[in-house]
Amino acid sequence: MEDNCIFCKIANGDISSKTLYEDDMFRVILDINPAAKGHALILPKKHFADIYELDQDTAGEVFVLAKRMAAVMKEALGCEGMNILQNNGEIAGQTVFHFHIHLIPRYKEDEIGFHMEGKGEPDYSLDDVQKVIVEGLKAVRAV
Ligand code: 5GP
Ligand code: ZN
Repeated sequence: MEDNCIFCKIANGDISSKTLYEDDMFRVILDINPAAKGHALILPKKHFADIYELDQDTAGEVFVLAKRMAAVMKEALGCEGMNILQNNGEIAGQTVFHFHIHLIPRYKEDEIGFHMEGKGEPDYSLDDVQKVIVEGLKAVRAV
């Protein structure tokens, strides 16, 4: 548990929250400032600032839980879709530096503007981008 981390305190029950689910690794809560009805957050009880710090075990389990929550929320809320979002770094919109996954139910005409607009044909080579990432993966595997 990290001092002064609000999500550590919420995840571990020191600060109350609208809890939807809890087990020994995670707490799932309603977001205090929801983007849509039922907007929920999956918080690991262990502190990881972001995906780069996440351990393998938590990384594996968290998406299994996201899948379960998404299925249940679809039925319970009658939403028509769901965005599953996870922000890393200020530039990506992260405001709380304790890893979390957003589950954002989507409804017809909800006027949420989540869509990634392509920028057209890139002015850099996709081959170069492919190469640098594939080389990075090889380097990780070699460690
Ligand atoms: P981020 O921008 O870091 O991806 O997401 C942080 C989310 O946490 C925001 O959607 C924000 O509304 C939510 N949040 C921040 N503080 C609290 C809190 O004290 N309680 C709850 N339930 N949600 C919070
Ligand atoms: Zn924390």
